[in-house]
Amino acid sequence: MKVNLKKKLKNVNFWILAFKLCFVFGQKKIIVIDPGHGGIDLGAIGIGNIQEKDIVLKVAKEVLRLNKTLLNDRFSIYLTRYNDTLISLNNRVNLARSLKADLFVSLHCNASSTTSRGMEVYIHNSNNPNTEPSTNLGLSILNEVAKNLNFEARGIKYSNFYVLRYTIAHCPSTLLELGFVTNVHEAHYFLKPMNIKALSLAVLIGIYNYL
Ligand SMILES: [Zn+2]
Repeated sequence: MKVNLKKKLKNVNFWILAFKLCFVFGQKKIIVIDPGHGGIDLGAIGIGNIQEKDIVLKVAKEVLRLNKTLLNDRFSIYLTRYNDTLISLNNRVNLARSLKADLFVSLHCNASSTTSRGMEVYIHNSNNPNTEPSTNLGLSILNEVAKNLNFEARGIKYSNFYVLRYTIAHCPSTLLELGFVTNVHEAHYFLKPMNIKALSLAVLIGIYNYL
């Protein structure tokens, strides 16, 4: 009888463990990071010919790497592009929708006068149940970047960008204008690999804190 009871208890423990593992893996959030532009679409071109498409791809890949090395693969992160190719806006949002992503974060850089600086965050300008979560996600990232990297926080803005328009109904989504390639200080900042790492870490921790 004792042996049987032990066996039964072992079985119960096994199923509890299996259930816990299923629960943990089931909870793994799916995040789509969308580095804007690519290929023939250079995006903004700034000081010293620095190109938006290159900066955002570097940041996206670094977010992917830090999730593996620092967060032990806590999130399932997918990029809309992994190299210097142009992906249509439709394919970018379709990826998020087909993966049933929990979050969509599009990465861009700003261009304006040489004196403009700082990071701004865009949310779709509709009245949607995901508007508030999207705003909270954007704020979480913006705060992390502004607090740790001494970037000026230009705040939250609402717009009708395609990638936001077609993701907001499915999950919280935000578009980050990471900084200005036309500002000499920010362009030089983006050129240094250590700074790309710091910026990517702040973006990842902003996402982590939101979730
Ligand atoms: Zn852009």
